[in-house]
Amino acid sequence: MEDKTNFDVVNERYVLSQALLKAMASIARNTEPEIVLQAICDSIITSQRIKLAWIAMGELEPDAISPEYCVGPAVKYANDFSQQPRTAAEIRTLTSALKSWNTSTYDILEQEAAYASGLRSVISLPVGQKNGLLAGVIMLYSDMPAYFELVGTSFFSAFIHLANSSLEQCTLLNELTHLASHDLLTGILNRRGIQECMERELSRSIRKDQAFSIVLFDVDRFKLVNDLLGHKEGDSVLKAVADAVEQIMRIEDYFGRWGGEEFICVMPESNHANAMQIAERMRQHIKSTQIQSASSTLNVTASFGVASYPEDGKNIDKLIASADAALYHAKRTGRNRVISANAIEQDIYTIGNELNTAIRENRIIPAYQKIIDLQTGQLVGEETFARLITPGGNLIHADQFIDAAHQLQLLHKVDRNIILQTFAHCVANLRAGNTGINNFINISADLLRHRELVDEMLTTIMKHCHSCQGMVIKITERELLTDINAVMDLLSPFIDFGFKLALDDFGSGYSSYKYLADLPIHFIKIDGELIKRINEPKVHAIVKGIQDTANRLEITTLAEYIENDTTEAILKDIGINWGQGYYYGKPEVLKH
Ligand code: GH3
Ligand code: MG
Ligand code: MG
Repeated sequence: MEDKTNFDVVNERYVLSQALLKAMASIARNTEPEIVLQAICDSIITSQRIKLAWIAMGELEPDAISPEYCVGPAVKYANDFSQQPRTAAEIRTLTSALKSWNTSTYDILEQEAAYASGLRSVISLPVGQKNGLLAGVIMLYSDMPAYFELVGTSFFSAFIHLANSSLEQCTLLNELTHLASHDLLTGILNRRGIQECMERELSRSIRKDQAFSIVLFDVDRFKLVNDLLGHKEGDSVLKAVADAVEQIMRIEDYFGRWGGEEFICVMPESNHANAMQIAERMRQHIKSTQIQSASSTLNVTASFGVASYPEDGKNIDKLIASADAALYHAKRTGRNRVISANAIEQDIYTIGNELNTAIRENRIIPAYQKIIDLQTGQLVGEETFARLITPGGNLIHADQFIDAAHQLQLLHKVDRNIILQTFAHCVANLRAGNTGINNFINISADLLRHRELVDEMLTTIMKHCHSCQGMVIKITERELLTDINAVMDLLSPFIDFGFKLALDDFGSGYSSYKYLADLPIHFIKIDGELIKRINEPKVHAIVKGIQDTANRLEITTLAEYIENDTTEAILKDIGINWGQGYYYGKPEVLKH
């Protein structure tokens, strides 16, 4: 052992400064607290005078402590540490570090176990945040008595400052990583986070030749929740749904928000049967959860699609598509149910393929239904409905494929085709001298959100007309967002070009009058359910009320579902302006 008097303190400090620099370099990119502390021990040990460094982390008790990482020539002592009896001095030093966050040093006595390993002095350094989250201790041992005092304990404190700031950085980096992969509203994984989980799970399942499943679910009729309660309350409902599902999830499963009101649960090592069972439990739990909103208590339901690797898809895209198809089927067959992808695959792909081919081959065509001025009996308009012609020449009605087009994100293409054809029809009518015919068309929110498609359509239309006289866009409350400004923004290219607006299904919704006040509406189309019941005195009074309002606002009313002369007579008497229904004719496809 070297004598203290020959000890070159200046050189030792130089060695330790180099070690500190080395430690700084090696921990710069680390996000694991353990790795940071290990790198510090590894660098300190480069001093010849330090024979052992060890770390213990977590909630520590001075008399029951066991090193997690040890390095240095005297590592054997650390390995035996927890089995050795502690001396009072040692416990005092550890207590001082662990309980009071003090750095303390002392010389090892002859009777201590460390002495036999050639260790003569020790310093205990508390590390981590004071809230205890990352609390831990680094212990350093020298083969020289009073080594730490001679060099100066501030040198070792510098290592601890470095450790603490790196640990803080670890926490920050971990928080940022968490933010990048988690959804702010619900706190669960976001789309990117859950996508990564699925990819990891897929690689693991391929490697281990195991099954895994995904469950995709979508809250039913969520637009109504937003309409009723507003978007903000809608958000809390989504959070409540996520919380409810999280409560009953198995510990091994992953849960994420796929987008909007769609969620995905990834179930490792689960086959189809397991996943179906768990999805069913989730469905029941969502249904029975009472959600407290600011103004009321409500229950929501969700529809589920379940897909499993490998039978429903061998890659993530295919698995998602299969789960989506099953979910779509659940929606179409009544909602609030769980459907397995292997039960329906054929069906949805047939519809999807058929629709895509029909769009490509221009087999989506318009059918026109007459609109009559009830007072004069003259033709004043036509409403366009979409039809699909099968390759065999059969005509498929809109209600059999519009929902599928919506779910498969093809609705904007259907709308575009129908609008362009209706526009051509409108131009042909004008050229033939049939003026004054209003062409009512549907525009889905889906199309409005494809701004590039809207621009392309309007450019095509403008080649034929400088401004538009005869086109009327029907908007439904179901399609509308709650934010009127956003709706106006989406509709303005059409309105600027002269398209008029009709509010559809009037009298069936919740906030129709708000739209009348805020949007430039020319027509209201009264909900068919009211017209069917026009014989009932209360309904009669309601329709009359609508007509009175329309008169004041100079809005033209249109009644659908007129099937006989009695209904026509009543409506005419109330003063309804225009009418439509089988009494005047069904929607018809023009013969080419
Ligand atoms: P269904 O799924 O049963 O067919 O009907 P739905 O009414 O839920 O229809 P859809 O899935 O097409 O529409 C989802 C609605 O959810 C549309 C959108 O306005 C709303 N939404 C999407 N994301 C959010 C969100 O983060 N917060 C709120 N409040 N609403 C959202
Ligand atoms: Mg949805
Ligand atoms: Mg939904």
